[in-house]
Amino acid sequence: MPEKKILRLSLDDLDTPHYGCTTYTLSEIVKELNSIGVSFMDYPHLVRLNPNIPWKTRGNGAVSIIFIYDDKEKVFSIADQIVYESYKKGEKKSTPALILCEEESITEDIMRFSEDALYKVLSIKRAKSIIKEHNNILFKTYGGEIGLIGALAALANPLTEHTYELICYRLPKNFGLPRKVDKESIIEMSEKTFPYTFNNYDPLTGRILITPHGNDPILFGIRGISPHKLVEAFSMIKVYEEISHFLIFKTNQGTNAHLNFSFKINEVKSYYSVKVKGYVKTNPVITKGGHVFFMLADDTSEICCAAYEPTKNFRNIVLKLRVGDYIEVGGGVRPPTRRYRSKVLNLEYLNILSLVEEHVYENPVCPKCNRRTKSLGKNKGFKCEKCKSRFPFLPKEKRIIPRNISPGIYIPPPSAHRHLTKPLQYYGLNLKIDAPFDASIFYRQFN
Ligand SMILES: [Zn+2]
Repeated sequence: MPEKKILRLSLDDLDTPHYGCTTYTLSEIVKELNSIGVSFMDYPHLVRLNPNIPWKTRGNGAVSIIFIYDDKEKVFSIADQIVYESYKKGEKKSTPALILCEEESITEDIMRFSEDALYKVLSIKRAKSIIKEHNNILFKTYGGEIGLIGALAALANPLTEHTYELICYRLPKNFGLPRKVDKESIIEMSEKTFPYTFNNYDPLTGRILITPHGNDPILFGIRGISPHKLVEAFSMIKVYEEISHFLIFKTNQGTNAHLNFSFKINEVKSYYSVKVKGYVKTNPVITKGGHVFFMLADDTSEICCAAYEPTKNFRNIVLKLRVGDYIEVGGGVRPPTRRYRSKVLNLEYLNILSLVEEHVYENPVCPKCNRRTKSLGKNKGFKCEKCKSRFPFLPKEKRIIPRNISPGIYIPPPSAHRHLTKPLQYYGLNLKIDAPFDASIFYRQFN
């Protein structure tokens, strides 16, 4: 009998505008592997990669699974067939990749690639050369090779900080039809399961965030920090269409995994996701379109920071920054364009570390009648208009202007979040704690 081995399988780039979704294809693979009796060792992983790459797939999310089985070739041929079918149904408009390997193939170089994929721009060449060095990694690409980057990155991301997402899928006959999910029940679920679930809807706009809007197979996805709570939350949602199945993923969503890497301003590169500390160099200004800009400087250089209109009330905080404030910011770097000739750092969060005092100098108050005096000209002193006294030696008075803002972390509202954005309520929370894998809840088939 062949020896049982720990295997890892990963997949990327099956998202297409009219059909596909990488997580859905993985759920079909899970279903099939379940039926041949593999033992899953963890929730499937949904790994979000650098969201600031312009040529990314929809959410730049790749997936992987880890399980025990004795026949690697059989698993590969099952997965290959399912991926190929999805690729065909998606009218070959994506460039998927599939990777399968033994656990011991995950070495330092793959780990480093996974980490880099969170915030850098990686090349297909580097992915291929890593795979080539491991002669026991099985892989296949379909129509192109871009998917290899995400698939290799998802293979080994340790998901040190993580959350979970229960993704519920539609029956194929309903794809493309309006989603029949009761809005009120989502809001009620959200309130009842706080803070164990997050970003179910945006209280600011009332917009529901758990249902996508495209033709993809997802009915809704509930994000949270406990798999069991997600199953509970799932049961609270009223659905008026038949559902197919759900799958619970372990994921780096909601962890800021892309913003863990500190940069000096002169090291910041286009399309990277970065964290930078510095001093506000110019007071923020708001443009006609409602975008807010200011310059940030450190001891190496300076960079333009932006909070765009969709970040809504977050801009009000940014507008209160003043020259000299010491802050840390995180976000994606937009390359120079013909119109803006410098790089722009698009803010995804703002951590105010210290505020300067804001003040103005005013004419002194008349000591006799308590009214503000008039200046008699530079270095000539002041005069009270009421009692006519002159005060040649009184200095100007410093008046402190209240800043109406405090040190701390500020982020845009949920409707402007990326998948990776850490919700405010999870700052300071230990997201490294693993929920033990519960094979009885992670996958459920309904119809
Ligand atoms: Zn007076």
